[in-house]
Amino acid sequence: MSEKFFEIFEKKLEMLREKYLYRSIKDIDSKIGMEITIHGKKFINFASNDYLGLSQHPAVKETSIEAIKLFGIGSGASRLLGGGTVIHKKLEELLCAFKNSQASLILNSGYTANTSIIPSIAEENDIIFTDELNHASIIDGCRLSRAEKVIYKHGDIDDLNKLIKNSFCKGKKIVITDTVFSMDGDIAPISDIYELCKNEEALLYLDDAHGTGVLGQGFGALKHFNLNSDSFIIQMGTFSKALGSFGAFVCGSSTLIDWFTNSSRGFIFSTALPASIVASAYASLKIVMQDGSFVEKLWENTYKVIGIIKSLGLKTTNTQTPIIPIIFEDIKDAMHASRLLQDSNIYAPVIRPPTVKIPRIRLTVSAAHKPEEIEALEQALKRL
Ligand SMILES: *Cc1c(COP(=O)(O)O)cnc(C)c1O
Repeated sequence: MSEKFFEIFEKKLEMLREKYLYRSIKDIDSKIGMEITIHGKKFINFASNDYLGLSQHPAVKETSIEAIKLFGIGSGASRLLGGGTVIHKKLEELLCAFKNSQASLILNSGYTANTSIIPSIAEENDIIFTDELNHASIIDGCRLSRAEKVIYKHGDIDDLNKLIKNSFCKGKKIVITDTVFSMDGDIAPISDIYELCKNEEALLYLDDAHGTGVLGQGFGALKHFNLNSDSFIIQMGTFSKALGSFGAFVCGSSTLIDWFTNSSRGFIFSTALPASIVASAYASLKIVMQDGSFVEKLWENTYKVIGIIKSLGLKTTNTQTPIIPIIFEDIKDAMHASRLLQDSNIYAPVIRPPTVKIPRIRLTVSAAHKPEEIEALEQALKRL
């Protein structure tokens, strides 16, 4: 029996290897900045979502260390059972100011947020309208809810409009979209979606994982589109990308946040984030709110790299953000290109199916990249 059991999974793994879809873990043996070493070899890191370089910011690290001294390491319990601290509360207050929202709640990760909050909002008789390129955690969140799911064409407001208007719904209509698409780098047409949701009395759930600290002078997608945080909008974001920390948040009306606190399983049944992590997110968020120079630098570097990709004639997406893919027809070509980049000490791994349909090298740009590092990227890209 046990032999057979292993055979099943060995076969599955073999199939992955044959299709060049087998994945393996790379562990970094240096600090995870823009210069990293993997097995002793030095690379310039173009694979990190640490868009502002805040994971290495001295004040952020210091705040975290102070919190460990005060509160210890683990939080010991879920938030509702006494695992939270005054730092958790302070961060939630800061998030309300950041998003100009009535209330907010910290979740343990972006993945947890989407898989817990979406099933809290969407019930039987509801319909979720979801962009075909939404993040896997949104897809899983939708699966966990009892609502009907309707997938609309990527970023296509006409398709969404048609689907919403033609659907009969006994319950709530809920539109869910990434603000910045994590693998293509394009931005959802949020102004149009906002208008549509308002007119159709639909809820709008925005996953601002890659918009937080990046769009709207760092304040996120709504600010980018000059929109207000209305009561029909739920904004989710993470501390794990531009804020250089870990964890996630959801902002919205007091009633909704109160409901999430009382119903979201990933919030109720999971140990609270440690105070040290929450403190670092707080310190990073303060920096983003008070000092625009990091976000400015990020965009300067982003435009530089997009310019390089275009001038070299490399195939990319309709990217408008620091997520800059180089598209390949074939996984083997993409893997070969990634190895060529590695030979030039550029770390930029291949993203393969099922994460994306079309294979690509996904470059991410950071404010922490130095001019000579972007120059090295350009030289390496010329070899492709
Ligand atoms: C990364 C990401 C998540 C998950 O966030 P984690 O904090 O890494 O769990 C959710 N949604 C989107 C769009 C993401 O890119």
